[in-house]
Amino acid sequence: MTVVIDVQGLHKEYGATVAVDDVSFSVQEGEIFGILGPNGAGKTTTVECVEGLRVPDRGSVRVLGLDPRRDRAELTQVLGVQLQDSQMPERLKVAEALDLYSSFYRSPADWRALMEQLGLADKATTPFKKLSGGQQQRLSIALALVGNPRVAVLDELTTGLDPQARRDTWELIEGIRDRGVTIVLVSHFMEEAERLCDRVALIDSGRVAVIDSPATLAERAVSEQRIQFRPTASFDDALLTSLPEVTSVIHRGDVVVVTGNRDALNAVISVLARNQIVARQLRVDQGSLEDAFLELTGRGARNGSAHGDGQGKGER
Ligand code: ADP
Repeated sequence: MTVVIDVQGLHKEYGATVAVDDVSFSVQEGEIFGILGPNGAGKTTTVECVEGLRVPDRGSVRVLGLDPRRDRAELTQVLGVQLQDSQMPERLKVAEALDLYSSFYRSPADWRALMEQLGLADKATTPFKKLSGGQQQRLSIALALVGNPRVAVLDELTTGLDPQARRDTWELIEGIRDRGVTIVLVSHFMEEAERLCDRVALIDSGRVAVIDSPATLAERAVSEQRIQFRPTASFDDALLTSLPEVTSVIHRGDVVVVTGNRDALNAVISVLARNQIVARQLRVDQGSLEDAFLELTGRGARNGSAHGDGQGKGER
């Protein structure tokens, strides 16, 4: 595996605020790497150091072997950046913006094809200010990709989008990854990271709490499984309570609620099947990335962090 981004011991303060405190991680070629955490956690400062937009106080950053500050000109040719609040001149039209941005690169992507892929072809002559939020967002993604980058950093990708536009954007990102672009995704939406990321770094109060795949983190967070179903026939609770995987069985009307360890589902279904009972309307509550975050930090990723400013990007 080739390391595309390598960050070691990154530290950045703004006056008395320690925004990033000894952050280290590396991103492998071809993966979607999530940087997750509550507002104010230090995510944007971290990626701005990766992009060369901020000077770290300490630590080292390499992107494809380049130093973001020293090799800035070279880096802009290989790194695509979607800015958080990408603001364009109001009257600049979609095609004009793409044409202009592509002129900054030595070997740009075909911007017309990109416009097509991002569903903006029928908006080619529409000025920026007349685009909907979702269309503006798609244009900012197109602009991040127009230089044909090997690495793209997308910050708060779907903030402000409606659920359908958010899902469309997710599909788009998967398509970009499939074309071989390594993606760093900054987000405070756990669901987005669960769906898209190969690995995530959970960042809290400027520090990396953990780095792992969303599935592993979710699984680790929850040691208990909660299973609910309507059995097709009544049975003696001992059938389930005698299983070593099961900790409790309760009845809520005709719904049975079983708690147990992570192997409980298989054990319960098997023993029911042996007794010719089917578990109808089966529901299993398992851990999520949000649970993992809660367990690691004591609070939800959507809430402000201990030194957060409370003016979350999601609310802007
Ligand atoms: P996130 O992207 O996770 O929301 P940021 O990197 O934007 O976090 O911010 C981390 C911390 O640094 C916050 O406490 C924020 O208020 C502070 N901060 C960010 N940018 C500046 C700045 N330019 N000047 C002073 N403080 C800042």
